[in-house]
Amino acid sequence: MIPHSLSVATLLAVTAPVLAQGPGGLIPATPSPANAVPGPFGYVRCLTPDLDPNLAMFLPPSDCSANSTNPTSAYSPANLDEIVIPVVFHVIRDNNGSGNVPNSRVISQVEIFNEDFGAINGSPGAPGVDTKVRFELATSDPQGQASTGILRYDNSNWFNDGGSYWNSIAWDPDVYLNIYTLGAPSGSSNILGYVPYFPQNGSPGSASDRVVLLNGTVGRNAPLAPYNQGRTGTHEVGHYLGLYHTFQSGCGGSNCNTTGDRICDTNSESQPEYNCPNNSTSCGSTDPVRNYMNYSTDTCMTNFTEEQARRIRCTLEFYRPNLGTPIGPVLGANYCVDTPNSTGLPATLVGTGTKLIANNDFGVYAQGLPINSPGYFICSPNQALVTGPGGSQGTLCVGGPTGRYLSQVGNAGIFGIIPLNVDLNAIPQPTGNVVVLPGETWNFQCWYRDSIFGFPISNFTDGYTITFE
Ligand SMILES: [Zn+2]
Repeated sequence: MIPHSLSVATLLAVTAPVLAQGPGGLIPATPSPANAVPGPFGYVRCLTPDLDPNLAMFLPPSDCSANSTNPTSAYSPANLDEIVIPVVFHVIRDNNGSGNVPNSRVISQVEIFNEDFGAINGSPGAPGVDTKVRFELATSDPQGQASTGILRYDNSNWFNDGGSYWNSIAWDPDVYLNIYTLGAPSGSSNILGYVPYFPQNGSPGSASDRVVLLNGTVGRNAPLAPYNQGRTGTHEVGHYLGLYHTFQSGCGGSNCNTTGDRICDTNSESQPEYNCPNNSTSCGSTDPVRNYMNYSTDTCMTNFTEEQARRIRCTLEFYRPNLGTPIGPVLGANYCVDTPNSTGLPATLVGTGTKLIANNDFGVYAQGLPINSPGYFICSPNQALVTGPGGSQGTLCVGGPTGRYLSQVGNAGIFGIIPLNVDLNAIPQPTGNVVVLPGETWNFQCWYRDSIFGFPISNFTDGYTITFE
């Protein structure tokens, strides 16, 4: 009987499953365990809900939509910068504090993400493709306060995946990957993990957007063999970044980018693989037993493929545009940072191009110069720190022997910039031009004449040091 004091709407709000508004409709924020079947080791490998092709039909197109992948080389990690995703681990324990995951295992789980998504040499993930996606425990919270990126709560309801905990504790899912470790994902202690929806047909960035992991499967040498080497985490983050199971839709159809897992370089597969057979075949080809998006044991899994990597990078671009910070390739470093010149700011150097000698496309430019200042670059294998040399303002940052780019004397013009193209086959030195060899470090600085006070002052930018490869 409904008490008169409660409206029907209130009752619905209390009893109805929490729903996320996706572009195509309503998707439960916690998947139902109703049809999940445990595998041979007694665990449900993954509760991520299956793709709904009918729902997907009505979703907007992209190069990595719910229904297809266009694996153009524009998404190849080889053509893209590294991107670093901040991760926050919400370790939810039971009321009595049981079900903890210690910091050491959380930290090792993040290491495993980096090994697997980075195909790091010498790690179990080495045979895979480097997605150039990296992960780090968040170092600051949404309010900008310093954090370890590991939070703990004691709450029996949340521990059993109840109570819509994400509404209380999620960090902005647009910019953080929120991972929750529980004692019973979707209420069952034999479910290893899930994401509530794919970013393509759920609502990425909403409070319920998350990865859920059973606590015993988190990190290296976790308790739950054979799911004890962190691959449940890798698999679920794969879903979170738009990948389907390798056995999605069984053998699929003739076009591997629009059927099956929508990926062509993972062979299609009639059913999940729970073990690690050497020569398992179905659908007329060898099964991708060692792929992270299969159901194999943790030690069996070793790779993402190139097309999976491209779909991941596409998913980040289309569906999670605010997640992660691209990190350009590190070239060199500024040193000997100088005092302000007559502009009120120091003039500084910026490196461009690459440090690969074979490319010979390294350049450096000076910025923040007083307008119309004449100047030229100097360089040396050695550094120095000589303040006010010869009555100059500023600091001389390159040591002897010092070469001068007198063939490229420049003028800062109205933008206050002087560029230098560095020919790595002909670096000027007092004894003549020299060829740069791999492993050599060179230091650059720009000398300029600052005449803004009406009389000429000799001055210097900061230094820029780079080791060529
Ligand atoms: Zn899965």
